[in-house]
Amino acid sequence: MTPPILVSACLVGLCSRYDGESRTNPACLHALTGRLWVPLCPEQLGGLPTPRPAADICGGDGDDVFVGAAHVITKKGVDVTASFVRGARQCEQVAQMLDIRQAFLKARSPSCAVTGVVGVTAALLRRRGLALVEF
Ligand code: SF4
Repeated sequence: MTPPILVSACLVGLCSRYDGESRTNPACLHALTGRLWVPLCPEQLGGLPTPRPAADICGGDGDDVFVGAAHVITKKGVDVTASFVRGARQCEQVAQMLDIRQAFLKARSPSCAVTGVVGVTAALLRRRGLALVEF
């Protein structure tokens, strides 16, 4: 059986974003047509509530977070790095369990972004060899 695709939950209509909204992406849904897929939100899996304060990576990108050179800080100045790392590890575990090789991830997210400032989860999944596509 072809392994499923891991997809950012907000891209497929789940209201998982920091503001309690979704960002349903028609191109992503089209690309998922006929495939098995698993919607995950790493920030929710890391234990953060929804809605929650917006956050940014400070001092680098997702790769830098894993070596302690960067941190994820909310707009209110709270360090939520541990929750972001926990959520990334949860996604990694699901990917390993289901032999997932590909992830469709949300752009401009401190967890999911694949380009620009690469998110924490994107960095870890890339390090584990997944092919990442950004929507
Ligand atoms: Fe979407 Fe990823 Fe943000 Fe969750 S962490 S709301 S899946 S962009």
